[in-house]
Amino acid sequence: MTDLEMPSNETPILETRQIYKRYQSGTTTLEVLRGVDFSLEQGGFLAVVGQSGSGKSTLLHVMGLLDAPDSGEVWINGQRIDNLPARDKDRLRNNSIGMVFQAYHLLPEFTALENVLAPLLIRHGIVNWFSQKRAAQEQAEALLERFGLSDRLHHRPRQLSGGEMQRVAIARALITKPQVLLADEPTGNLDEESGAGIIEALAELNRDNGLSIVLVTHDADIASQARGIVRLAAGTVDMMNPGATGSAA
Ligand code: ADP
Ligand code: MG
Repeated sequence: MTDLEMPSNETPILETRQIYKRYQSGTTTLEVLRGVDFSLEQGGFLAVVGQSGSGKSTLLHVMGLLDAPDSGEVWINGQRIDNLPARDKDRLRNNSIGMVFQAYHLLPEFTALENVLAPLLIRHGIVNWFSQKRAAQEQAEALLERFGLSDRLHHRPRQLSGGEMQRVAIARALITKPQVLLADEPTGNLDEESGAGIIEALAELNRDNGLSIVLVTHDADIASQARGIVRLAAGTVDMMNPGATGSAA
């Protein structure tokens, strides 16, 4: 990239252009995404809402390179990423995109600390791990401490509450210092109080650390805590309250 091509501050951190995605089951074709133009500005915090089955997870998976669209483009910080070779996509997923899921997806045999360290182990590789381990461990402990888990470092997922598991999952998503955090119904399995704690943690990361966030939820109360709301319906998105930080194109 030359100096002239450096992304400006107005470059969205995350953008989709005309995303189409359909699923074929038997003889029926389900057109889930029909030209989704989405844009999140640097430091933005957008909630994506929509009915169950409207394609929220599909869209988030496309943004996070977990799923390929039939057509359309995904851009991160001024770089098109959907058409990169698999190896570069893996690297981006490890370095630039943090993901959090409703079901946490922690490794059951690993402790909280080990779960948070896993992305760095993958990044550095087992051969280089020995020289990286101490610094990585300090970072992981600091993150877990930030989320109130300093006395849970060596607990395994089954020894943690749902809210604690989700906080471990958020710490794991952040250990790589991603450019954007994508969260798919992160409070979906939690009681109201634990869920509120998770949303507050996300809002704080956005406010205090400038982390750019896309939060998928079907819960209007939760969505209202983002800085803007995008509704997904009939395969396309609409910005619900223009003027908030982060905008849908
Ligand atoms: P949401 O997250 O908004 O509830 P999804 O993105 O999970 O919706 O799914 C959108 C629609 O696509 C749903 O009707 C779902 O059944 C369908 N769908 C999702 N994944 C697949 C798949 N792999 N094969 C077939 N249909 C799918
Ligand atoms: Mg979903």
